[in-house]
Amino acid sequence: MPYDNNNIFAKILEKSLFTEIIQENEFTIAFKDIAPQAPIHILIIPKGKYIKYDDFLDKASQKEVYSFFMLINQLVKDYNLEDSGYRLITNAGKNANQEVPHLHFHLLAGQNLGKM
Ligand code: AMP
Repeated sequence: MPYDNNNIFAKILEKSLFTEIIQENEFTIAFKDIAPQAPIHILIIPKGKYIKYDDFLDKASQKEVYSFFMLINQLVKDYNLEDSGYRLITNAGKNANQEVPHLHFHLLAGQNLGKM
């Protein structure tokens, strides 16, 4: 399946759709989920055009992959989540009901999140 250039996160990246970026590095951005499922609900996405996790790991450079996960780690520190805890989720493809076909991780925190 080819990357869909019209997906909503592509529009955020090309700045035709505004969102407040809360953390950024060379290859990655993070912003708040529009429909938060927890007090802290942040989406982390690569700037490159990757559909989902396996696509990203198959095609991205080591620098892009490293930057992506380090930005998540930075958010964990910025929000002081090391002790209280957090949940990281990525939905990939049909059976996971991935809505937006641009790789994103959800960072959820700020209360007890219950069981998966
Ligand atoms: P997923 O089901 O894993 O693909 O999650 C897609 C997420 O994107 C959902 O949690 C939506 O609430 C979120 N979302 C959709 N549009 C926007 C937007 N414009 N800004 C921020 N989050 C969005």
